[in-house]
Amino acid sequence: MELACLDLEGVLIPEIWIAFAEKTGIEELKATTRDIPDYDVLMKQRLRLLDQHGYGLPQIQEVIGELDPLPGARDFLDWLRERFQVVILSDTFYEFAMPLMKKLGYPTLLCHKLEVAENGQITNYLLRQRDPKRQSVRAFQLLNYRVIAAGDSYNDTTMLAQADRGILFHAPQNVIDEFPQFPAVHTFDDLKRAFLEASVIHDD
Ligand SMILES: [Mg+2]
Repeated sequence: MELACLDLEGVLIPEIWIAFAEKTGIEELKATTRDIPDYDVLMKQRLRLLDQHGYGLPQIQEVIGELDPLPGARDFLDWLRERFQVVILSDTFYEFAMPLMKKLGYPTLLCHKLEVAENGQITNYLLRQRDPKRQSVRAFQLLNYRVIAAGDSYNDTTMLAQADRGILFHAPQNVIDEFPQFPAVHTFDDLKRAFLEASVIHDD
């Protein structure tokens, strides 16, 4: 049995924090795991900035509700779900992702959770576990699934390494250069081909 694991932001949907930064003009919120590989350092910086500027979850959700999946993402995901069981592994939060998951047909999503006060202030974040993408792939392998994974950034690389086959999609050149062991593709057509090539059950 084969399972496809996909990163979410940068692969199927835009980077949520960047979209929010553009709407609010808070430049520092544009930093992502592409810029700061340590996710914990990155999140503490984001929550500090939100507090400083007086933004809570309702304002963020308003922006997210206006976003759409990346062009071609929904078609690609439907194509993939016809051929593989698909699980999306993300470092986002359920509170942020749900408006966009609706537009993707509610695929299975494993991610993190926020702690939100009654006034909407985000007070903390709860990581499901350490190194969650890799641990998820490991757990699926223990269930006898062969895992093919695709992602775009640093926070995907342990997932790609743990997977039976890892694929970089939409990755910036510095990530491609640092992880030459993973094939790198940039269009959904090429990603489809990469999944078929990585598969042992689909030989077309
Ligand atoms: Mg990503």
